[in-house]
Amino acid sequence: MYGAGDVRVENVPDPTLQAPTDAVVRVVRACVCGSDLHPFHTMPASAQGSPMGHEFIGVVEEIGSDVATLQRGDFVIAPFAYSDNTCEFCREGLHTSCRQGGFFSTAQAEAVRVPLADGTLVKAPVGEDSALLPSLLTLSDVFLTGHHAAVRAGVNPRTTVTVIGDGAVGLSAVLAAKRLGAERIVLMGRHKDRTDLGREFGATDVVAERGEKGIANVRELTGGDGTHTVLECVGYMSAYEMAYGVVRVGGVISRVGVPQYEEAPIGFGSLFGRNITLTGGPAPVRAYIEELLPDVLEGRIEPGKVFDRTVGLDAVPEGYRAMDAREALKVLVQP
Ligand SMILES: [Zn+2]
Repeated sequence: MYGAGDVRVENVPDPTLQAPTDAVVRVVRACVCGSDLHPFHTMPASAQGSPMGHEFIGVVEEIGSDVATLQRGDFVIAPFAYSDNTCEFCREGLHTSCRQGGFFSTAQAEAVRVPLADGTLVKAPVGEDSALLPSLLTLSDVFLTGHHAAVRAGVNPRTTVTVIGDGAVGLSAVLAAKRLGAERIVLMGRHKDRTDLGREFGATDVVAERGEKGIANVRELTGGDGTHTVLECVGYMSAYEMAYGVVRVGGVISRVGVPQYEEAPIGFGSLFGRNITLTGGPAPVRAYIEELLPDVLEGRIEPGKVFDRTVGLDAVPEGYRAMDAREALKVLVQP
């Protein structure tokens, strides 16, 4: 990406092992993330350009001499953050804060260098032609980001849920909340083709209105009180304002949309007066992959339905454009 709206496909040197704990993974599928659209809107023009992409699955091509758990030819899922999986933060399930960790940024490509390969990569018993590839790719970020929102919120069979946002993360949050047993899931979104998938994933109600009207409608659906949990999957201030508008007394707002603001209401009228908890953050997806992988492998969930377009590497710029124009919900990249 060379600046807002300016995505190019270029030849760059192949990734190579740089540390004995590295692996090189050939990318079988990658994708464009909603968060990639933020720089697509705002990145200042640059002569240098930045590589893009943080979600991928693929095949191990090379391993460093210290890599113990992987072999060439293994099919692997890469979380969007790399981590050692051994430090105290990783052991607490906070892999995005790993003391040695960091974030991938070169996955919209043919191959990726993976630091801390033993800690980072999770093997999956599938071949490159598996029909499960789209759903496996969602374990790299989008589905587990939705899952994280639900986990941080404490979603369970006794909690009512509002999901704000009908993008791929919001729909994933619906599916995750359903999986965790929620019986009442209100999805706030205004694109019917997307909210239809939300209903398929488990949403019981859809509220298309936004702002004060949207808040009023969610409250009306819930006897005036709002829902126990709110999964905010957008990141704009307007979504946060809706979140504290629809959360029930004593409830939890869990944010996984990357906030595009640093200051927000937290006082008596928004959070404090009604004992509201605010939580959320970058999903430590590495902590969740092993737990959720069997549900994908055994077909109990199909989170890969969020992908509605597939492009080759040459068409990645068109993929950004299509997602930005909301012509595509989420774009799969097949190098
Ligand atoms: Zn760690």
